[in-house]
Amino acid sequence: MSDEIKKLLNSQFNKEFYSAYLYMDIAAWYEAQNLKGFAHWYTVQTQEERDHGLLFYRFMLDNGVEFTSQPIDKPAFNKGNLGEPLASALKHEEFVTQSIYNIYDAALKEKNYLVTQFLDWFVKEQGEEEKNANDNVKNYELYGGDPKSLFLLDAEMMKRIYAPPSIMVQQP
Ligand code: MG
Repeated sequence: MSDEIKKLLNSQFNKEFYSAYLYMDIAAWYEAQNLKGFAHWYTVQTQEERDHGLLFYRFMLDNGVEFTSQPIDKPAFNKGNLGEPLASALKHEEFVTQSIYNIYDAALKEKNYLVTQFLDWFVKEQGEEEKNANDNVKNYELYGGDPKSLFLLDAEMMKRIYAPPSIMVQQP
């Protein structure tokens, strides 16, 4: 495996933990607005992002890639109104998708099918992440303008249940 791919895998671990940190920050902001369902949804999302990071961690350790920790950036998201964090989250997931694609491209160039096979799950997962993030944006556009509808949407967001990734069979 090339040094470039090793670097990209380590960097992706950092991006997944940044995502967890970002969504924790968004959850705290929504809780401060008393939208506890929105806060819950992003707390569950934080757990998923941590899982994503741990999958990269395990893949690296199992395949002789040295793990190198890096600082995690301070989360940044827009908070001009109640819908803006949702749009920031969608933009962030599009960025993460592109990041996964970049590793995929590098692995294909080197014919490293171990890496592409590992990344296949993430390609599918990013499709779901973008869909969920887009649903949140659309739902807020539809219902966010009316307090009663917003109350019901918040209750709906509260129903989200955490489930570990299907491929997560080992803990670090
Ligand atoms: Mg992720």
